[in-house]
Amino acid sequence: MLQRKLKKQRKGERRNKMASVHKACKQCKTIYEGSKCPKCGSEEYSDASKGKVIVLDSEKSEIARNLKLKDKGTFAIKL
Ligand SMILES: [Zn+2]
Repeated sequence: MLQRKLKKQRKGERRNKMASVHKACKQCKTIYEGSKCPKCGSEEYSDASKGKVIVLDSEKSEIARNLKLKDKGTFAIKL
């Protein structure tokens, strides 16, 4: 499988409205593209288009606490 190089990694989260190819990891709820989760390596996923939450500061975010998310990033909320 060919590895695509990211041109530049942006620090800010950008909402992507055309997110039809995104998958949501069932293990850690990370939303990703590709064959497996970049965070935990799991290949179990569900459709990420059902709902997602963008965590910018997991310590201040009530949603992040409720979902037991410790990292910032984009996560699925309904799996
Ligand atoms: Zn994962």
